[in-house]
Amino acid sequence: MRDVEELVEGEERERTGLLAGRRAVVTGAGQGIGLAIARELSRHGAVVALADLDEARATTAAAALPGDSFGVGCDVTSPDDVRGAVDVVVKQWGGVDIWVNNAGVTRDASLRRMTVEDFDLVIGVHLRGTWLGVKEASAVMRDNGGGSIVNISSMSGKIGNPGQTNYSAAKAGIVGLTKAAAKELAHHGVRVNAVQPGLIKTPMTAAMSAEAFAATEATIPMKRAGEPEEVAGAVVFLASDLSSYVTGSVIEVGGGRGM
Ligand code: NAP
Repeated sequence: MRDVEELVEGEERERTGLLAGRRAVVTGAGQGIGLAIARELSRHGAVVALADLDEARATTAAAALPGDSFGVGCDVTSPDDVRGAVDVVVKQWGGVDIWVNNAGVTRDASLRRMTVEDFDLVIGVHLRGTWLGVKEASAVMRDNGGGSIVNISSMSGKIGNPGQTNYSAAKAGIVGLTKAAAKELAHHGVRVNAVQPGLIKTPMTAAMSAEAFAATEATIPMKRAGEPEEVAGAVVFLASDLSSYVTGSVIEVGGGRGM
């Protein structure tokens, strides 16, 4: 069995040709899980456009990848930005084979304290952003004969977390969106799946208090938080032909949490 420490030494790991020739886009790829997904797709042979609100960070991250990967500024809540990212990739590479809707934010608060702005922002980035990505990417993929779309949901969308009524609603909504789109697009050769990470070590969860983090870790059957690379592994599977007969599915990557 691989040691967890090996997973974070992404650059040292052996490259494969599993995704050779594939053209991928990952949203929110400037850091955290999105960056790990971009690195893992690249490690398996894909070229990757790293789309992020922070264009400079995405460009710097892309520069560390081999080949023609590049960074692009993109706010996933903006129809123009999402279409622009698709256009840039199609212009550069002629099409898109893999699209990962990963960008995300949290604005946690109790129902009493959560503002309408907190609710709208979180629903907007996750649900509107994922819908825009699915809509624009699938249009290109169906014209090109197929592709794979992976939407990053969360265990929060399955089990519900107090203080996350906005986030849990958005992440549950992504599951419904994934299944509806999978049914609509299956006969065009476009597969649509979702991944539900549990507690993963990223800048997003670094904002949790040490006590809250440890308390959540204690509820996980595997008794540890996950690494971003462990989420990326599931995405690589769904992006590749290893999952050629898988669509509309939700893969939980949570060390057994919430089963
Ligand atoms: P993160 O470290 O906060 O990274 C999220 C990335 O998304 C950041 O680079 C952020 O850019 C970008 N982003 C935010 N709003 C955006 C927008 N409107 N358009 C484009 N990019 C935007 O979070 P993470 O932990 O890696 O999370 C990645 C995904 O996994 C999210 O969908 C999250 O909900 C999901 N997830 C995470 C966990 C976990 O435990 N970490 C668990 C389950 C699910 P800026 O920094 O410039 O804002």
